[in-house]
This record gives sequence, C-alpha cells and structure tokens, in this order.
Amino acid sequence: MKIGVYPGSFDPITHGHLDIIKRAAVLVETLYVAVVANPNKNPLFSVEERSEMIRREIQGLPNVKVDSFHGLLVEYVKSKGARIIFKGLRAISDFESEFQMALVNRELEPSVDTLFLMTSPHYAFLSSSVIKQVISLGGEAKGMVSDFVARRMKEKQAQSGTPIKKVKSG
Ligand code: ADP
Repeated sequence: MKIGVYPGSFDPITHGHLDIIKRAAVLVETLYVAVVANPNKNPLFSVEERSEMIRREIQGLPNVKVDSFHGLLVEYVKSKGARIIFKGLRAISDFESEFQMALVNRELEPSVDTLFLMTSPHYAFLSSSVIKQVISLGGEAKGMVSDFVARRMKEKQAQSGTPIKKVKSG
C-alpha cells in the first residue's frame, strides 16, 4: 500500500498547500498531512488550530488524513509505514534547502524518498508568511486562503492585540 507524508508548518494552510495536497493525494492510497510541531518557530496558530483548519479544507478528500509530529521527519514517516515524503517547490530559493534536506533524510533513512511537486504557477508567490503580512496590514487574502482561514487569521490578530489597519481602496 502506498502511503505518503506531506509535512509542513501550515501556519496557516494556503491554496498553494491545498493544491499540493490534491495532487499528492492521487498518487498514493493514503496521504498524511503532517503538521510540524517546531518549538523554534513562533507560529501564529497552535498545532491543534492548524490541524483543525487543514481538516476543514480537505473535506471531500477521503484518503487524506491530518496528523502532527515532532522530532525527526524520517522517524515519523517510518512510524506511518510510509516511504514517500511530498514537498512543494516554488521558486529557485526553495530548491537549495529542500535539496539539502532530501539528501539528509535519505542518508538517515535510505528506504524513504522525497517527491517534489512543482507549484502551480498561480500559487508560485504564495507562502503562509506573506499572507500573515498581508492580513496584519489590513489587506485581503482573497484567492490565497479560504474565507474560513482568512477569518480565523483576523480573529487571531485581534486576540493577540495587533492592530489591523484598514487599507483604503481606490
Ligand atoms: P510556508 O510557510 O513557506 O508556506 P510550509 O512549511 O507551510 O511553508 O510548507 C510546507 C510545504 O509546502 C513545503 O514543501 C513548501 O515548499 C510547500 N509549499 C508552500 N507553499 C507552496 C506553494 N504556494 N506552492 C507549492 N508548494 C508550496
């Protein structure tokens, strides 16, 4: 049985992530979208909140499961009985670090391989951090994240006391 893992921060999930999830899901029987619990990063959303948002976005994709992990990715992948790590590639800038990580992971666990899916051109500019910036400056993230995620981001910014400035239109 082919099992794949798509790891990431997903802070929060964007249309770019969702595009990779849909494309990876048709290549395997089960796909785990695995939220990385990385204490070194300072995420906007908790692992539970990120997982819950992903769950809403993947409704209608029966072979996709949401999970989280900390520690070594290859250990997590093995624990799921998986042999494929999916990664999305945007610009050349993604390549260098992803290339290094893929080689390290293969060194650690030769039975696990990384498959790269090239971004869809429409989402090539999208990252969670750019969307957080847009929202924090009062902009709209239409076409970048779902309406639900955009709402959750605004609520979160309001809770954390960050002033959301209104961008004048026109
Ligand atoms: P980011 O915060 O940069 O969006 P994540 O850690 O959440 O990064 O990303 C998880 C995975 O999804 C990575 O493999 C990343 O390269 C990929 N990814 C993120 N955004 C896109 C996109 N717009 N198109 C293709 N792949 C993407």
